[in-house]
Amino acid sequence: MTELERKQDRTPVPKEWAYAPAPESRDVVTLDDRYGHYVGGKWLEPSETYTTISPATEEPLAEVGQATPEEVEAAVSAARDAFENGWSGIPAAERAKYLFRIARILQERAREFAVLESLNGGKPIKESRDVDLPLAAAHFFYYAGWADKLEYAFPNRRPQPVGVAGQIIPWNFPLLMLSWKIAPALAAGNTVVLKPAETTPLSALLFADVLRQAELPPGVVNIVTGDGRTGAALVKSEGVDKIAFTGSTDVGKAIQRELAGTGKKLTLELGGKAANIIFDDAALDQAVEGIINGIYFNQGHVCCAGSRLLVQESIYEPVVEKLKRRLTTLRVGDPLDKNTDVGAINSKEQLERIRELVESGEQEGAEIYQPPCRLPEKGYWFAPTVFTNVAQSYRIAQEEIFGPVLSILTFRTPEEAVEKANNTPYGLSAGVWTEKGSRILWMAERLRAGVVWANTFNRFDPSSPFGGYKESGFGREGGRHGLEPYMQFDGSQPSGG
Ligand code: NAP
Ligand code: MG
Repeated sequence: MTELERKQDRTPVPKEWAYAPAPESRDVVTLDDRYGHYVGGKWLEPSETYTTISPATEEPLAEVGQATPEEVEAAVSAARDAFENGWSGIPAAERAKYLFRIARILQERAREFAVLESLNGGKPIKESRDVDLPLAAAHFFYYAGWADKLEYAFPNRRPQPVGVAGQIIPWNFPLLMLSWKIAPALAAGNTVVLKPAETTPLSALLFADVLRQAELPPGVVNIVTGDGRTGAALVKSEGVDKIAFTGSTDVGKAIQRELAGTGKKLTLELGGKAANIIFDDAALDQAVEGIINGIYFNQGHVCCAGSRLLVQESIYEPVVEKLKRRLTTLRVGDPLDKNTDVGAINSKEQLERIRELVESGEQEGAEIYQPPCRLPEKGYWFAPTVFTNVAQSYRIAQEEIFGPVLSILTFRTPEEAVEKANNTPYGLSAGVWTEKGSRILWMAERLRAGVVWANTFNRFDPSSPFGGYKESGFGREGGRHGLEPYMQFDGSQPSGG
């Protein structure tokens, strides 16, 4: 017996791995009973309201405005005024100053924002604290740096701002998507009207207070809340020069139809059905962590989630076994508990969508596995789920579930892996796990996906462009590429993408 084995023999094995509750305090967040729209630096009293809730408990949190087309118009004209009367003309270094301020204030108020994001959206505090907030601040820092260097970013092209940008964002990363949209738009000298998703308006409304603190001139950023009707009014508004949309492919297509022929610029960041591909020479334990992160991060409400696992046939059994074992250690529950790995599903509507697709998987003949876990009685919950025996034609292998549900398929050769990975209407992201650098490059060349991660997954950086092919949309956010849709160039016409 080796020394190590002797040591292991003596190590006491705990009977269970229960964690004591470790809730983050809610006291750091103060909510108003009722919020209006943030227009021209002031709060506009809404004519209609709805209640926003916590998806983990169904507890009402606040009343927020449902912006009518007239209220959207008020926000658009405030943005137009701000664009024409100052913002586009001030020295670029001044614009940078505001962006740096916003970034710093987000860092200072990170805890407050993280708690609010988890409260209103259901995501684990561990993620809002360690991913959403640091990345949101990083985006403002990054684009602050570009604001006075645009001629170097686009040499000899005389970059000019586009004007008023209408920005529509989803509920899965509310503050982070806001940052992806607002930071490059302002750096490039535009003004903004932003509509957060219906279910997660609160962090955008708290962001209005950051703008006040940063003393951003009134009207440069306007925030109108409401459901899809508010979004549609913003798309239709004649005063908007550019639409940036992140959301579902169906709504993206409707927006593209609406804008066809109007000359307005458009970028679409839509859905995905990413393949996470594990070769038999990959470091398996590391790959299993990557699979878990790829699909259970943010309850799988991630457009680039690794929702299709492609495993090389020779390692299928050990991978599935390790994966199932790892699944039993995921802690599902209170988003505000610091030990929680998987939080609440964002809305009742989304929960129904997940259930319907999971049922279709069982009916079509796939085998379901869910680890034993007790879900809270109130709120919207779905246990982490794995499907084996999945055929490529099944709906769970084709359609975006946008929930904590993984479909496992197998392949034998790299060629087959590429073919299966690309067999989807989407093309947002992919993951490759192998120890061979040459194979990573070979795969990356052939995978039709905007982002290909190698031996990692769901990694983001403000300097790295993100966006899709095919039905995942067009245009890039992040990096120097992310500035381009917010600029027009000498002699060029605004165009889609
Ligand atoms: P969604 O229904 O398309 O909503 C996205 C945003 O558009 C929301 O603010 C929504 O308001 C608004 N909206 C709805 N109908 C509209 C219309 N007719 N005109 C204008 N705006 C309208 O998508 P979701 O269900 O919130 O988000 C999930 C989807 O977004 C997934 O498919 C996911 O893949 C995709 N997504 C993509 C990315 C990316 O970067 N590629 C990132 C995150 C999410 P309501 O909130 O009232 O519906
Ligand atoms: Mg929706």
